[in-house]
Amino acid sequence: MENKYKILVIEDEKSILNFIAKHLELSGYRVLKAAAAKDGLLMCFSECPDVIVLDLGLPDMDGYEVIQRVREQSELPILVVSARTTEQEKVKMLSAGADDYMTKPFGTAELIARIRNCLKHQNRIGTAIGSECGYRAGNLRIDYEKRLISLAGEEIHVTPVEYKILCSLSKQAGKVVTYHSLLKEIWGPYADDDNKILRVNMANIRRKLEQNPGEPEYIFTELGVGYRMRSADES
Ligand code: CA
Repeated sequence: MENKYKILVIEDEKSILNFIAKHLELSGYRVLKAAAAKDGLLMCFSECPDVIVLDLGLPDMDGYEVIQRVREQSELPILVVSARTTEQEKVKMLSAGADDYMTKPFGTAELIARIRNCLKHQNRIGTAIGSECGYRAGNLRIDYEKRLISLAGEEIHVTPVEYKILCSLSKQAGKVVTYHSLLKEIWGPYADDDNKILRVNMANIRRKLEQNPGEPEYIFTELGVGYRMRSADES
């Protein structure tokens, strides 16, 4: 198979690097290994991988800077894998342009699932322009052209703000969208960083969409970080 996805893993701890590489290869991916940020960046721009798995604590450069450098030139998905667990740290990396975040230690099943998610999201962006007219997952449909939302065929009435939130999340489905970026997108650049208004709207959205808002099917909370909408179904 020549069309295997290429995953670049940037990680300075050899045992972890080899562990990740082995499991990715077992799952059918091609793996590029870099033990330092500089090598990783070189490979990123010369080899054009499909996803980067990035450790933050690297000997020659902080992962945060790596994310920024990649983002200057490319939109390719970055999955951060780190021992840093604070919300502040996660928000910082996601705001810099990371697509997802995993905390060490992690299981290989989770790693593979998140990589698939990154690839799915990437593919959707690639084909989205012009052809993307809706979101579909489970019983939920969003028709962007008609501005219609339906659940199991029944139209759901939402306010204009709720609609904007749903559009934003569904167009980035599978990805964590931070509170900060949602607030800015919906309420403008001078939006207060107070999440209360977002929480109130989200509670209303969930009441309308979720059978059991305590165990959501469509919109998940990443505590202290933001929201993630369920990935769209394959069509
Ligand atoms: Ca490290």
